[in-house]
Amino acid sequence: MFTKILIANRGEIACRVAATARRLGVKTVAVYSDADARAKHVAACDEAVHIGGSAPKESYLQWERIIAAAQATGAQAIHPGYGFLSENEAFADACAKAGIAFIGPPSSAIEAMGLKAESKRLMEKAGVPLVPGYHGADQDPALLQREADRIGYPALIKASAGGGGKGMRVVDKSEDFAAALASCQREARNSFGSDAVLIEKYVQRPRHIEIQVFGDTQGNCVYLFERDCSVQRRHQKVLEEAPAPGMTPALRQQMGEAAVAAAKAVNYVGAGTVEFIVEQPQGYEHPEAMRFYFMEMNTRLQVEHPVTEAITGLDLVEWQLRVAGGEPLPLQQHELRMQGHAIEARICAENPDNQFLPATGTLQVYRKPAHTAFERSGVRFDDGVREGDAISPFYDSMVAKLIVHGDTREQALAKLDAALADTRIVGLATNVQFLRHVVASESFAKARLDTALIPREAGVLFNQDRVGTPTAVAAAVAQTLLAERALEGSDPFSRRDGFRSHGLTTRRFDFDVAGVHLQATLTYGRGGALTLTLGDVQGPLAFEPQADGRFDLQFAGRRDTVQTWAVGETVHVFCARGATSLVEIDLLAHAGEGEGEGGRLTAPMPGKVVSFAVKAGDAVKKGQPLAVMEAMKMEHTIAAPADGTVAELLYAPGDQVAEGAELLKLQAA
Ligand code: ADP
Ligand code: ADP
Ligand code: MG
Repeated sequence: MFTKILIANRGEIACRVAATARRLGVKTVAVYSDADARAKHVAACDEAVHIGGSAPKESYLQWERIIAAAQATGAQAIHPGYGFLSENEAFADACAKAGIAFIGPPSSAIEAMGLKAESKRLMEKAGVPLVPGYHGADQDPALLQREADRIGYPALIKASAGGGGKGMRVVDKSEDFAAALASCQREARNSFGSDAVLIEKYVQRPRHIEIQVFGDTQGNCVYLFERDCSVQRRHQKVLEEAPAPGMTPALRQQMGEAAVAAAKAVNYVGAGTVEFIVEQPQGYEHPEAMRFYFMEMNTRLQVEHPVTEAITGLDLVEWQLRVAGGEPLPLQQHELRMQGHAIEARICAENPDNQFLPATGTLQVYRKPAHTAFERSGVRFDDGVREGDAISPFYDSMVAKLIVHGDTREQALAKLDAALADTRIVGLATNVQFLRHVVASESFAKARLDTALIPREAGVLFNQDRVGTPTAVAAAVAQTLLAERALEGSDPFSRRDGFRSHGLTTRRFDFDVAGVHLQATLTYGRGGALTLTLGDVQGPLAFEPQADGRFDLQFAGRRDTVQTWAVGETVHVFCARGATSLVEIDLLAHAGEGEGEGGRLTAPMPGKVVSFAVKAGDAVKKGQPLAVMEAMKMEHTIAAPADGTVAELLYAPGDQVAEGAELLKLQAA
């Protein structure tokens, strides 16, 4: 076993690797960028080395610096985590040349699996089933068109070097093929430096089921069962679970053996995942009819590895360290067991109601569900941030992973919902409530899984408010009164709640709830009784402080344990049913506002400026595209809000920009 390793990553995965190393008595070295100087992963390691600027290409992708840091600190091995350098064969080679163990497969295996088309040719030879398609080297557009016509529509064009859900186009009919090919090639060239594509039959109602494999340097290879990652948005995973609902022992064994054959074909060592796309030709009710096809192999530890750990009781990072140190696999195939059901939810800084646009900001409130002793609670929370940390535009939007384990899928679902309800984040948009809606949706609850689950259930997933306006307003009023009472209590001369002392019996509150102006009236009755009127809802309002800032709230026939946080004028309301926010309007403070600033063009999300379509001095028409930004693997066009003239460009292509950053100045015509 190594005595010291360097972790060439950040965020939750760096913290995750450090935790196992610590448990095994292995010292850890962190690396960090400017933006991460005070990050949790730095504190989680024994030593830390600064490696450069905030943008990944200036730090976490600077492999010479990372290897130099390992040498300077005496680390014997490097764990690459996922993303960044984890699937970079040149980096794996450079580690070997420097005499440092790369905690991952040999570079030849990374290379063989790195290109989707070439890996498929290899898998065909190894007898692993493939989606019907074309993955040849000849990229003549006319030939590609003929192949697509032969395969039939809908067809899928994929960038051979693609990854992370990027570089894919679904084509519905032959006439659309040429345009989709050109657009896919353009994206592939820009993102992956190669425009080679492959074409596949687009599988209808598919499930994504992947097999965790593990190989050692003695030539052993086992499979650690499957994970179902069918719940996706834009081809990216949202929820992952193990075992896959409906999986039969026979199919599990077939898929497991196919995955081991795939790994053995490239002499695989360490943790890897073989992803399959699974067809359900007879619908959800007949899982025994499922057919599986190889999709790709990820030659690294996967984001969702904890669900496999939860059902097997194993620590996959420990296995990685042992195998990289030359030890044989700790267990053989017949010794592996699975127990219960596990689900992981990816908690991301994003706005699901606005096309999942990534969000940045400060974690002003960051309260996790109780998750002590996973063995007993069945709740695990993996993260790389702390309250007060900023989520910056430089890195992935994933804030944390919540993993639950129960005896059955129903129990795991219930635990997941309860833990999500107790996850309280204020300061930026997150998908926490959205995840709860997915978990509660009929398709997910009944395990009718496929990659179109989210669009199919859209009606119950987006723009949902489970708290309800009466409870939200009552909570905001109660929190104002509680705050005033606390002030009065500490200072008897400041009578903030002056209405009573001046003999007034009613008080007006104004709110903005999802863009609608609402007025609430509070009436003080005899003996301190309160009545709240909100449109045609009227009734007694009662609240009672509980422990840790929660209070018991009763209004309009409902009783809730509520927790609120006021940030500026916005009140964030959390209760077991859900969470919402509303803006308290101070009518006096807003008098005189309303002159528009005009002419400003700001980034709608954190990301990178790809290009400007205009230059200073250009006259533009309303709706004309001005700039293209890239954020979270998608391109977004910024269009002119009105006719005008471009006064100045404030950034250059390639620049990283924060949400709200002004990109260019426009002079209205
Ligand atoms: P997993 O299959 O482990 O869930 P993902 O596709 O979500 O993998 O990728 C894991 C992480 O790796 C992502 O969050 C992202 O940071 C990074 N990643 C994977 N592929 C790419 C890619 N082609 N370009 C940029 N980042 C990538
Ligand atoms: P990436 O490298 O971006 O992860 P994958 O090849 O693993 O790319 O595909 C990502 C997702 O796209 C899959 O999980 C699946 O949802 C969808 N997908 C891929 N291939 C097909 C196909 N042939 N038919 C239907 N959906 C597909
Ligand atoms: Mg994939």
